[in-house]
Amino acid sequence: MSYIQFLGAAGTVTGSKHLINTSDGTPGGGPQILIDCGLFQGQKEWRERNWQPLPTPARSIAAVILTHAHLDHCGWIPRLIKEGFAGPVYATPSTIDLCAIVLPDSGHLQEEDAAFHNKMKSSRHKPALPLYTADEAKAALERFRPVDFGQTTQVTPNLSFRFVHAAHILGAAMVELTIAQNGGSRQLLFTGDLGRVQDTTYAPGKVVHHSPQQGESADLLVMESTYGNRLHPKTDPRPQLADAINQCVHRGGSVIVPAFAVERTQKFLFVLKELMEQKQIPRLPVFCDSPMAIHAVEVFLNHTEEFNQETRDLVSRYGSPLTWDGFNFCRTPQESKKINDTRYPCLIVSSNGMCMGGRIQHHLAQRLPDPRNLVLFIGFQAPGTRGAQLKDHAPQVKIYGQIVPVRSQITAIEQFSDHADTPEILSWLHTFQKAPATTWLVHGEPDSATQLRAAIVKDLNWQVEIAKYLEKAPLP
Ligand SMILES: [Zn+2]
Repeated sequence: MSYIQFLGAAGTVTGSKHLINTSDGTPGGGPQILIDCGLFQGQKEWRERNWQPLPTPARSIAAVILTHAHLDHCGWIPRLIKEGFAGPVYATPSTIDLCAIVLPDSGHLQEEDAAFHNKMKSSRHKPALPLYTADEAKAALERFRPVDFGQTTQVTPNLSFRFVHAAHILGAAMVELTIAQNGGSRQLLFTGDLGRVQDTTYAPGKVVHHSPQQGESADLLVMESTYGNRLHPKTDPRPQLADAINQCVHRGGSVIVPAFAVERTQKFLFVLKELMEQKQIPRLPVFCDSPMAIHAVEVFLNHTEEFNQETRDLVSRYGSPLTWDGFNFCRTPQESKKINDTRYPCLIVSSNGMCMGGRIQHHLAQRLPDPRNLVLFIGFQAPGTRGAQLKDHAPQVKIYGQIVPVRSQITAIEQFSDHADTPEILSWLHTFQKAPATTWLVHGEPDSATQLRAAIVKDLNWQVEIAKYLEKAPLP
């Protein structure tokens, strides 16, 4: 029996890993592959799963097919290799370039975490070890094999795949998997993370292709459900953004923007530049304070083939953000700390996006107590994170073990999301040539998966299941 097994992103939005076992009559099952190999993030209960071995030996997996460069999809690859995986990792060229930034950084953070626990003696493991090191992450990159969008690749004698656009972030792909069996074939479609539909007004600054590939045909669909219970606002956020910035500057404050280093920061910089050029906001000094985001700017500018027309126009009008007047890119920790001396209004865009680590922490510690300042959220804040606490108007937060009072203004703008919301998902599903025999929902909190399931059943009357952790299901 050929089957799929959900090894992550089931009941949660992280740790994406879907195992396909294609029985070819061999005892113990046939060739196996993994679609995505992501890190569990967030609460401890999930993170501990990063330390559990897979239910199948890593060396028995023939290949990994990777949808995109977010850590919850790619961040466990170095660990898989440590556990004995010896095959290739297929990804689009731009995903590989982004992985070359995010994976070593992830290894570096793992090492820092382990060192911190050893210093504080706060781990049950003596000594605490990193899941993998920065060097191991760099070595993992040698396994990556570039595959262009639309190109068919044979992975095993009975299994081939093609990447098509997912419109989520640079390089993001859906995987169309074909399994040849008993003289016929079966199509499986994995969405990875699904981007927004075409509109540019209420999802401004979208860097990559608009809209996921339409007209799909699959016998089995595995789809994300992050925003399965949400509606993105359908208004242009730029006037609201300009207003918030102007009010803050007027009272002599600075704007602190926690932003994901990959895609969100680049997109936001272009929006800021445009607002300045159109004289909607003053030409404030902007500090982009994330080495990863600065590297990612370079990767973005190397992959113009994925830009939409709006971004092409912006780049041809304004050139590289790295050359813009008044935009400062802080590479070293010294440059980062120096921002604290800035007493006049400025804009600080820093990571990480959920305020759980990185340089954003010292900016928040410094600026949260001042009511003139504004903390502006432009991304998803997972439950339990410091970002979620701030967004929920906590009166104080703990940073570096110190209590910091929150007196600054806190605002969130939701339109910058790179995930389709429910109406957008439904309109995309309507473009399918036929109903899949089964649609499996993954990558969503239980509530959003349940609501999305109900919406699809009501609208399309499809057979929809919500994947459970380690659940196995036969392939159609
Ligand atoms: Zn993603």
